Amino acid sequence: MKFPILVILILALCSATAFACPCSDVTVPNPPPATSYEEGLKFSKTSQYKKQFASATSSAKKFCTDYIKEHPGETNLAIVSDIDETIVDNREQFRLHPERNWELFDQWVNESKAPVLKPTYEFLTWARKNGFAIFLITGRPESDRKPTIINLVKDNVSYDALYLRPHHGGPPAEEFKSAVRKDIETMGFKIIVNIGDQFSDLAGGYSLDCEKLPNKMYFIK
Ligand SMILES: [Mg+2]
Repeated sequence: MKFPILVILILALCSATAFACPCSDVTVPNPPPATSYEEGLKFSKTSQYKKQFASATSSAKKFCTDYIKEHPGETNLAIVSDIDETIVDNREQFRLHPERNWELFDQWVNESKAPVLKPTYEFLTWARKNGFAIFLITGRPESDRKPTIINLVKDNVSYDALYLRPHHGGPPAEEFKSAVRKDIETMGFKIIVNIGDQFSDLAGGYSLDCEKLPNKMYFIK
C-alpha cells in the first residue's frame, strides 16, 4: 500500500507547486497509440482538443510564472519547443494528402506557408518577453532549415536557436532531442518548460516541466 500513497503524494505536490516534476518520468508509449490523419483531423476540430491544447499552454505559462516568483533574479532560463503541430499547423496538408506521402510533406515544408498555432505562439512570445531564451528543436532535417526559418518569420515567431536533425532518418526523435537539451543545459541554460505534441519531444529529461499537446493524426517514436 505504501507505493500508491507515495505516488499520490508526489502527484499532489507536482500539481500544487512549481517545483520539478521530473520529465524523466515521461516515456514514449509502446505499443504506439492508434493514429490516423482522418480521425486526428476530426479530433482536432473538437472542443476537447482545443481544451487540451489551451490547458497545456496555460500550464506552461503558470509553471514559468511560479518559477520566476520562487527564484527571483535567476538568469539563463530557457524554454524548449517542438515545431510541427506545436508552433505550426500542417493540417491543411494532411487534409489534402491523407495518404501520408513524405515527399509531398517535404514540398509543403518548402512552401513555408504553415499557419501558426496561436496558444503556443502566445506562450512563447510571452516567455521571451519575460526573459526566457527560446530553443526550437525539430525532427525536420537540416536540409529544411531555410524554408523552416522563412515559415517562422512569416508567422512572426521569435526564437534564439533552431536545431534540426542532421538528415532524414537521422537519430530517433527522443535520442536527438534529449541530446540537444543536454547540450543546452551544458551551455549554461536551465530548461524550465519543454513543450511538444509527441511524447518523443519530451522523453529523456533535461527540463523541469513537460507539456504534451494533443495530436491524434500521427505518432513519432
Ligand atoms: Mg511535432
